[in-house]
Amino acid sequence: MDSRDKLERLFAMFPGIGPRQAKRFVYFLLTRNSGFTSELALALSDLKKNISQCNSCYRFFPNDGNTACQVCRSVNTDQKTILIVEKDVDFENVHKSGFYNGRFFVLGGLLPILEEEPAKKIRARELVAEVLRQAETGNLKEIIIALSLNGEGENTYQYIKGILQPLTQKYSINLSTLGRGLSTGSEIEYSDGETLKYAIENRK
Ligand SMILES: [Zn+2]
Repeated sequence: MDSRDKLERLFAMFPGIGPRQAKRFVYFLLTRNSGFTSELALALSDLKKNISQCNSCYRFFPNDGNTACQVCRSVNTDQKTILIVEKDVDFENVHKSGFYNGRFFVLGGLLPILEEEPAKKIRARELVAEVLRQAETGNLKEIIIALSLNGEGENTYQYIKGILQPLTQKYSINLSTLGRGLSTGSEIEYSDGETLKYAIENRK
């Protein structure tokens, strides 16, 4: 296996990247000057060093010596709600639109239909622990599940609803999901701010 094959194999592990695209990336890099590849190598090695994972919402944030991210630590964050999203880019999309001011939780994936080991695919245990932690403060009143409107999103919603039920019942926490505005198949990542705002305001 030469260096090209090795890199190709690594690129092919990226989400949405097949062997053919992986090969194109490798040849693209070979045509760049060494300044470009050095910069890329440095950026890669800095990534893990400079970015931490929040121990509360599980999103990635610039390492500032804290275990929880800015949003989780901020006194301006509304403690009454937790909005559950699939991935970091979904968080970024909702956060930057500026209309939602509560807590977040990043699930880290969606559950395929008939998934045999759901707890390995998403942060199920972490979610239950975080909801319990927030519920015990007495502030948490509502959990909003904001997943993509497709089969996997619906499947994940049903699963989460089930595992959180003992807590939502015990602590009288309302569980809601996105309402009208998002059409079937919509992905949070690609939805514009106005649509998201409408869907969250009309949650059910
Ligand atoms: Zn956080």
